[in-house]
Amino acid sequence: MKNRKRCVSRVFRRAASAKDGVIKNMDQETGVKLLQYFMLGILLVLCFILPGTGAKRTARESVRQGGSQELRENDPGGSGSGGEKGTIVIDAGHGGDDPGMIGPGGVNEKELNLVYAKKLKGLLEAQGYRVVMTRETEDGLYDADQPNKKAQDMERRVKIIEESAPLLTVSIHQNSYPDASVSGPQVFYFEHSKEAEKLASSVQSAMNQELGIERPRTQKGNTTYYILKRSSSVTVIVECGFLTNPQEEAKLQQEEYQDRVARAVCDGILEYLSQSVV
Ligand SMILES: [Zn+2]
Repeated sequence: MKNRKRCVSRVFRRAASAKDGVIKNMDQETGVKLLQYFMLGILLVLCFILPGTGAKRTARESVRQGGSQELRENDPGGSGSGGEKGTIVIDAGHGGDDPGMIGPGGVNEKELNLVYAKKLKGLLEAQGYRVVMTRETEDGLYDADQPNKKAQDMERRVKIIEESAPLLTVSIHQNSYPDASVSGPQVFYFEHSKEAEKLASSVQSAMNQELGIERPRTQKGNTTYYILKRSSSVTVIVECGFLTNPQEEAKLQQEEYQDRVARAVCDGILEYLSQSVV
């Protein structure tokens, strides 16, 4: 019996130790599986969650890059890459020996025209356009010894326009009328040009609205003005206001009003160009 007992107890011990072994084996397997789950979890985090934040970051960067692209377009002068949208000619009327209209307060049209032309130039360049000015100084475009200065001056302006092949041309002037009470902006276009009429309409509307003109005019067709007749560009003449009206003469010299006029002309041009682009 003793032997049998011993034998049984040995069997139990073996069984027990075998059971322990199983338990040990099971513990090891569970550990491995837990490790596998842990690694899988890390992989999931790496594969799905982090790329998501990466995508968000990329999206934010694209927006930021888009923004800076917009900034570049709006500030071509800053990046030194202006003019990608095309060329616009600005013609400051008169100059040199030709003062244009002289207001009752003594202001010369040629000086005001240049002020407005330069302001408009800045606004259009900020929008990405290349601007060609027919003049940037007080001087006219004629030679001093030229017998017919006015004719040469006008021919040279048209030559600059033709050589620039612009999207459009804006000639800046100040108006005059025998009745001193007459005031407000007036835009002219060559009567036989549908595109010039559209541009004139857009600029006239922008000026009427943005300057709060009490008696707004409509754009006016013309067949005699040299620059309208002789240039093949889509050209308008913008008469900013009447120098024969003393109140308007004073207003036209105020920088705040000059900025508003330039902005309105610029907006009218941009509106026209936005409709013209196919
Ligand atoms: Zn003029």
